[in-house]
Amino acid sequence: MTTTVTKPEKDPEIGLETLSPSRAGDFKTCPQLFKFRAIDRLPEPTTVYQARGTTAHLALERLFDLMRTERSPERLHTLFREAWTELRTDPEYADLFESAQDERDWGVESLQLLSNYFSIEDPSSFDPDDRELDMLDEVDGMTLRGILDRIDRDEQDRLIITDYKTGKAPPERYAQGAFFALKIYALLIRHRTGETPHEIRLLYLNGPTLYRTTVDDRVLDAMSRQVRALWDAIEKAMSNDRFPPRPGPLCDWCAFKSICPAFADDSDQ
Ligand code: SF4
Repeated sequence: MTTTVTKPEKDPEIGLETLSPSRAGDFKTCPQLFKFRAIDRLPEPTTVYQARGTTAHLALERLFDLMRTERSPERLHTLFREAWTELRTDPEYADLFESAQDERDWGVESLQLLSNYFSIEDPSSFDPDDRELDMLDEVDGMTLRGILDRIDRDEQDRLIITDYKTGKAPPERYAQGAFFALKIYALLIRHRTGETPHEIRLLYLNGPTLYRTTVDDRVLDAMSRQVRALWDAIEKAMSNDRFPPRPGPLCDWCAFKSICPAFADDSDQ
């Protein structure tokens, strides 16, 4: 079985060292899941969905290396094929498909998904300010880190942050919760540039669906307080070694279900 090792977020001597939006989201969803990933650093099998996400992100990043007139669906498909040719030799992806036909079907489905991108925006009409921006900054006494997909400016020169998603979009009534990570990125950008982003966008290729919401200093200050509370809660959980499992709908997709204390009775039967 192939595995992915999550990055360490903890120094046993000094408590929480850094926090990414993904791990913060894990703790919010299920403290035990956070422990498995960030404290115990247990490996997780790479899925075909993660492989698609990584490859699609690479292709979309490289699309903007091309001249505006060259940013077509055909070129995006070529970039996806080239990115997968590079990635598929990595041991992480070695045993991902049971057969060559499975891999081909996955590829065809991935290209269909990428075609959807052009019905959401026209990449020949703008040039991003930045892509795949790797950030590690101290904000309000916390070291936050993460990789931001894309930053642009709109017609009024306001900052727009975009995150690509290859999974399914949540129903609209749950969309606000999906902006959690992007608000942390907006906080990081405000801290780094001194400029408050105007809008954050979740671009779901599957659908396709575009969710967008405006942010301002009030929203980002509230986010900073929320992350601070999470940071403190994580440090408290670490000092007490107490990470209660919180079973929910995601358990069926959790790689750790077979060793999760919440399902210990099930595995005994
Ligand atoms: S199986 Fe469910 S309760 Fe257990 S760690 Fe995973 S998400 Fe949390």
